Amino acid sequence: MSVKTPIYLDYNATAPMRHQVIAKMAELLALPSNPSSVHSFGRLAKKHLEDARKTIAESIVVWANEVVFTASGTEANATALLSFPERRILVSAIEHSSVLKLAEKLGGEFIKIDENGVVSLSDLEQKLAENPKLAVVSIMLANNETGVVQPISEAAQICKKYGAILHCDAVQALGKIPVDFSLLGLDMLTISAHKCGGAVGAAALVVKNNRPIKPLLIGGGQELGRRAGTENIASIVAFAEAVQNFDFAQMRKLRIFLSVMENEIETAGGIIIGKNSPRLPNTSNIIMPKVDNQVQLMNFDLGGFAVSAGSACSSGKVEISGVLLAMGLPKDVASCAIRVSGGWNSSEEEIKKFTSAWLGLKARLT
Ligand code: PLP
Repeated sequence: MSVKTPIYLDYNATAPMRHQVIAKMAELLALPSNPSSVHSFGRLAKKHLEDARKTIAESIVVWANEVVFTASGTEANATALLSFPERRILVSAIEHSSVLKLAEKLGGEFIKIDENGVVSLSDLEQKLAENPKLAVVSIMLANNETGVVQPISEAAQICKKYGAILHCDAVQALGKIPVDFSLLGLDMLTISAHKCGGAVGAAALVVKNNRPIKPLLIGGGQELGRRAGTENIASIVAFAEAVQNFDFAQMRKLRIFLSVMENEIETAGGIIIGKNSPRLPNTSNIIMPKVDNQVQLMNFDLGGFAVSAGSACSSGKVEISGVLLAMGLPKDVASCAIRVSGGWNSSEEEIKKFTSAWLGLKARLT
């Protein structure tokens, strides 16, 4: 019996690695690589580390020494929020759980989101204006569930006016749209390799002008004392290789394929979330009215499509999306949403197949 390879449309969960990225990583895995060692292997590891740092830094327009490698985007986000305990914390209501849950724990406040999935700049300004205590603000560049791109440069202007530090979680944006740290006017930025074609285990917090941060992990003096622990050289080098293979032309094509899909789905009674907002080129969040997303996911899985509900806790159980609720969608509508996210290896044919599957399921179940 031949088993059909499922079509992978869950790049926002984790992106597959290109062959050249895997090959580069394998090369490094074959070497003992501790960049703190003084012998030749260590020196070579150090060279790989610093070359990778430079490549990644250049791609987001920062200096190499502003890049602090971490093991995950979650860790980078936590480092950003925990580095300024004397400040109040303000985060958007649609941040990734690594920001949202930590902010909750730290007594942070939440910036409103409008019905189009965009952070309310007036709410940000009002919150900053009403309390003279300096703040750390965290707003993502693009949302992982809806793909909606946030007005970060505008938020940065407001933050500057009130002396707030602005951190931006660009984990989902990197590799899908150009990310320019200086142009965005940021103080801190989080990126993560496995969302953009690298491996799990490498990510970074970018900190403007080496502003002192509080290391989450204490021990060795790695990363200029900003993050202890031996650097994951193979994953970091793979991260740099992935960055060098970003293909924005493919992303633009993908947006066209998804737009065709979205039009067909809307004609058949589906709803596209965030359609009136600037969105990532690879992401569509789709409501099939009256069909619970767990039922949809099961059917798509059986039909050979790997898509997601956009929000799953670690047990794999689907929860109602806090992002969609923050946008004002009723629970019974939000529970019918699925996320389709493509990437470098997604073809027009795959999107067409998914469109037919969606239309077929809708006809069968409603
Ligand atoms: N930030 C966003 C927007 C994400 O989508 C994710 C992962 O889903 C993370 C942060 C966490 O990144 P990591 O998986 O590297 O911890």
